[in-house]
Amino acid sequence: AYTNGRNKKPRRNFGMPNGVGVAGSSKLQNLKEQRRQLPIAKGREALIEEIRRHDVAVLLGETGSGKTTQVPQYLLESGIAGAGMIAVTQPRRVAATSLAARVAAEQDTSLGQLVGYSVRFDELAGPDTRIKYMTDGMLVRELLSDPLLTRYSVIIVDEAHERTLRTDLLITKLKTILKERNTPSDGKGKASESAGNPLKVIIMSATLDAEKFSQFYDSCKILYVKGRQHPVKIYHTAVGQPDYLDAALRTFFQIHVDQPPGDVLIFLPGQEDIESLDKSIRLYANRLPAENMGVVICPMFAALPPAQQAKIFQSTPPNTRKCILATNIAETSITIPGIKYVIDTGKHKEKRHIARDTGSGFDALLTRDITKSSAMQRAGRAGREGKGYCFRLYTEEAFDTMPVSSEPEIRRTSLTSAALQLKCLGEDIEDLDFLDRPDLESIHSALKMLWFLGAIDNTKRLTDAGRKMAALPLEPNLACAVLESVKNGCTHEVIDIVSVLSSTSKLFFDISDERENAFEARRKFRHPSGDHMTIVNTFRSYQDIAATESKAARKEWCRKQYVNERTLLEALKIRDQLRATCDKMGIDWRTTAHDDEKPVTKSLFRGLVLHSALLQPDGTTFKQVYGRSVIKIHPSSSLADKKIPAIIYDELVYTNHIYARGVSAVPKAFLSEMSNQIKDQIN
Ligand code: ADP
Ligand code: MG
Repeated sequence: AYTNGRNKKPRRNFGMPNGVGVAGSSKLQNLKEQRRQLPIAKGREALIEEIRRHDVAVLLGETGSGKTTQVPQYLLESGIAGAGMIAVTQPRRVAATSLAARVAAEQDTSLGQLVGYSVRFDELAGPDTRIKYMTDGMLVRELLSDPLLTRYSVIIVDEAHERTLRTDLLITKLKTILKERNTPSDGKGKASESAGNPLKVIIMSATLDAEKFSQFYDSCKILYVKGRQHPVKIYHTAVGQPDYLDAALRTFFQIHVDQPPGDVLIFLPGQEDIESLDKSIRLYANRLPAENMGVVICPMFAALPPAQQAKIFQSTPPNTRKCILATNIAETSITIPGIKYVIDTGKHKEKRHIARDTGSGFDALLTRDITKSSAMQRAGRAGREGKGYCFRLYTEEAFDTMPVSSEPEIRRTSLTSAALQLKCLGEDIEDLDFLDRPDLESIHSALKMLWFLGAIDNTKRLTDAGRKMAALPLEPNLACAVLESVKNGCTHEVIDIVSVLSSTSKLFFDISDERENAFEARRKFRHPSGDHMTIVNTFRSYQDIAATESKAARKEWCRKQYVNERTLLEALKIRDQLRATCDKMGIDWRTTAHDDEKPVTKSLFRGLVLHSALLQPDGTTFKQVYGRSVIKIHPSSSLADKKIPAIIYDELVYTNHIYARGVSAVPKAFLSEMSNQIKDQIN
């Protein structure tokens, strides 16, 4: 049921296949050959020359042309980087770690030596590291200890078109850092210290936003890399497809059964959709007659463990078709070779801060329609190595009405942690020069949150507590809970909890069909005070098992309790980092309240104060204490359907109703104590 769509015009047709999969000692030779064949390699010398000549440049090029992997190596090999390091920022951690691994292989060194990475709670870099792939958030964090980023001689802001909040912050800060570091010394003050250590900044982007970046940096030079793009034939559905998972499933099998070999890339909004489609494709693939090609399914999303990510780059065994199920991470951040067919659901997940007039808004992760530029990027993934096909699960009219590009994150997300970090740099978010200015409403909401947490005082000045919160690699509200736990003597438990909450995935699998089984299985962990102490119990039980049992037994234990082991493993890593940070800050993380939950919920309550709500007379809904939203307890919570007079929660999710997730009961006395404290703060 597809209408014949427009053809994508071929831009260039080198027709050179990308070398793949030669094993053994020739592996390095093969990598070298692959490097030479990348579109960017042709312009290597010219590119190096341009970068040598300019302090700032915008580099624009098609996905897969070699920008992210090659430019840092060119700069290192040509000596432009001098003695300093080259930072390459990425919006996503998976991209940072997998790109670092690839470039380390191309440089024939082990990861963490010449080439390293740094993402929150995980770093693999050392004294020899010269090229560092890192998340944009990590570089923002480094500003706190090194405001001029003096360790770096080149900073590459990659995927700038994604316009994440951290990328926008960097773009703003780099403008002033460039001035400080590259202005010849006038003999007084700081400039002389930093002179002789000039900085180069390269903004890299996959789409046509180059003009805007260039203008921001006083009309700096724009450089182009030509890609290698084969024609992609695009089909739209004749009618809208409300059930995009079902439509994707059917389209995949139409391709698989009728079309010649070639791998398939399916774009889906998020992890849940990927896991569910993975299951159904497996189910149907097993029922196909044996003469059909086999199917290898590779999921790809931000929270995927590194070992599994590597699977997407492996070549497929003979007579099998690879099917990659990916979020928009595969749009530009990661280029997967061998794709001939793209199925585009037209959806992605977007974090949006729902601001409320009272200032206590919340972040919601919503499934939304993509933009035109995303749709074009997605289609382009099919034409890397030859003629390709893109099946859009939406109509041509729907495509025509899509906005050209998405709204920058700074205009739709919570600014609390950004505002705090800027405060630590002595700057006010409301005064800075951004590519796009944030809304006044969300600035107010952020400042209000910081004030509630005690991070800033009545005159909007940073407090000691605020500085400590910023030093902890946590969201300010969780950092606040950790600081409060010091007073209440339960840092051990609170760090356990915030480690789990800071993981990329949830602790408990929540499959609606199996909710009852899961509820039973987890009964032994359940704490009457709610989900936070339940986390502590689960985490403790897991560690007991982990200390004595085999890996397989641990896995089995997790499966039986519907617990995500990946979350626990990540939480253990996070906890190590948090404990190390506490040691540096002189916080004793060993203090424990043993089995008393009061000090723990009290500490959490301090950080989650704006996430508190009171039971309404109807006995089922709650009203926010410092906001106007009426909410319900999420069915996945251990407190679901319970009549609790006062609660705190981790987050709100918005479906047919506003639900609170991660809920604990708090004594009403906490609330009145808090409001007295707040009155004191005002007076
Ligand atoms: P760009 O940044 O211009 O989109 P990249 O430098 O990311 O391009 O990628 C260049 C090429 O390197 C791509 O063709 C991709 O297939 C290959 N590549 C990148 N990372 C990996 C990896 N981890 N494994 C195998 N190939 C990779
Ligand atoms: Mg790239």
